Amino acid sequence: MNCSIQPKTSAIVGFTLLELLVVIAITGALSTLLLAAAATAKQKARVAGCANNLRQIGMAAHSFAADNNGRFPAQLLWSEDAELSASAVFKAIAYNASPSVFRCSAESRKIAPNSGYVVSYGINEQATPEQPSSLLALDRSSESAGFTRASSEEAEWDESTALHHASKGNVLQTDGSVTQLSDKGLRSLLKHSLDMVPDDYIYILVPANGFLNTVRSQ
Ligand SMILES: [Zn+2]
Repeated sequence: MNCSIQPKTSAIVGFTLLELLVVIAITGALSTLLLAAAATAKQKARVAGCANNLRQIGMAAHSFAADNNGRFPAQLLWSEDAELSASAVFKAIAYNASPSVFRCSAESRKIAPNSGYVVSYGINEQATPEQPSSLLALDRSSESAGFTRASSEEAEWDESTALHHASKGNVLQTDGSVTQLSDKGLRSLLKHSLDMVPDDYIYILVPANGFLNTVRSQ
């Protein structure tokens, strides 16, 4: 009996064109999925960084109020000159928090070092510590320099805010909570905040050109 083991005949292993195309297609799909996951993670980090900035702005505003008879900077430093008023309010907040918190993590604008600070947020001039559910500060929305009159019907997020915050924007309420809201959610919060003031508009303070040029040195 011949028990010798015959070596297998070596087969020529190779890919057919179809198999190669399938491999390329799968690799491409996986790359797309990975890139999408990375972009989502990056966006979440930006939104979280922005929310953290707003929390610090809230703490700084309350810290100011604690030293100034319970009044927020915008209540105390109001001026008919919107630019002066915005500058004073942001400087007062910067006194209790690093001015770097004024820059949203999705902000693309830059300013030369030592020239000042980019301001991505607006401050509701009419917010008071007695109204905990009112709007205090928010991401960039449909705005101009100085005062922005944000009515509850027309307000919407700025294009760049929506682009980097999953079509939403962050808002800080007077109680220190930060929420991500859609355009509709923003309008709803503004309407709620408007019910607490005698005016037809919420006045949002933003420094002229979106920059704070001088910050009080500590
Ligand atoms: Zn933001």
